[in-house]
Amino acid sequence: MWGAIEHLGRDDRTRGYLRDAWSPADLELRQWFRQEAARRGLDLREDRNGNLWAWWGDPSERPGVVTGSHLDSVRQGGAFDGPLGVVSAFAALDMLRAGGFEPGRPLGIACFTDEEGARFGVPCMGSRLLTGVLDPDRARGLTDDEGDSLAEVLRGAGRDPGELGRDTETLGHVGVFLELHVEQGQDLVHRDAPVGVASAIWPHGRWRFDFRGQANHAGTTRLEDRDDPMLPFARTVLRAREAAERGGVVATFGKFRVSPNNANAVPGLVSAWLDARGGEEAAVRALVAELVEFSGAEVGAESWTPVVDFDVVLRERIAAAVGGAPVLATGAGHDAGILASAGVPSAMVFVRNPTGISHSPDEYAETADCHAGVTALANALEDLCRS
Ligand SMILES: [Zn+2]
Repeated sequence: MWGAIEHLGRDDRTRGYLRDAWSPADLELRQWFRQEAARRGLDLREDRNGNLWAWWGDPSERPGVVTGSHLDSVRQGGAFDGPLGVVSAFAALDMLRAGGFEPGRPLGIACFTDEEGARFGVPCMGSRLLTGVLDPDRARGLTDDEGDSLAEVLRGAGRDPGELGRDTETLGHVGVFLELHVEQGQDLVHRDAPVGVASAIWPHGRWRFDFRGQANHAGTTRLEDRDDPMLPFARTVLRAREAAERGGVVATFGKFRVSPNNANAVPGLVSAWLDARGGEEAAVRALVAELVEFSGAEVGAESWTPVVDFDVVLRERIAAAVGGAPVLATGAGHDAGILASAGVPSAMVFVRNPTGISHSPDEYAETADCHAGVTALANALEDLCRS
């Protein structure tokens, strides 16, 4: 399975992946998912928000046990974030079948749409729409770097954007959700364990800062006559770092756009995106408030996800089913967190990442650890399907 998808959307110059939601690479990955489902005789359904579900058994009779992840990537991302969870889901199902397992309840494999938010700026778009925490009108109006709205992109992909929104029927099929994911840190390296279980996801959010000035000639405009928005932006980046260190949180300006984006022009507008996260919601909120005040920019909140504490009973049960794996918190958001917040009992299994590097072509997991992840997932699914 890995060999079938590893070239899709890969930039051969950098080895990084470009798998924006609804891009040609993403459509090919979705097609691959459908083929893997068909090959196993699973019943494939695409919900109103573009999420894919491959079912063994009928979840309309009884809510099922679901595992899976996503196939899109951040720009210039790695191979494992997302696809490892989907490939491992199919592999775990194969392992269970090879052992003669018959599930006592429906077993599903999910592929969530646009988890990374690389194209439209809102992460976990598929699960946020599914659970109703993202307003469908707002989603339809989001635009990509080309200025195309999600509604236009969906129409181009043969989907009906009018269908977007909370989907109680699909949600009702999910009795429990378990997502396997490459670890985005080095906790498991320090604990000398190939696999771990998530305790919580830190509260996190994204904010857009628009710094406005006056575009003008870079040669003829005197320094004192300039209104250059790059300057307050630069000061705000430095202030974010300082405030994060003071507040014990993390804050990142990882994306910005300059207009008109000419080497010989003073910019007229700088739009920048702040990503802020931390163990304590109040500390994250305080950092954002400080930067709003300091920057003088127009600031809009693009997404906010409160702390997610995964179901204690479920996570202990999974930790036991996978042989007493360590339990750890993460600063990364996931669809499992969105589902947990919507009341779906959810849990996560992490696979060791030797360098901890993620969202980069250097993201990696050893094959032996990936196999340990599949075995852990199969054991957990077997246990959950019994009740
Ligand atoms: Zn991911």
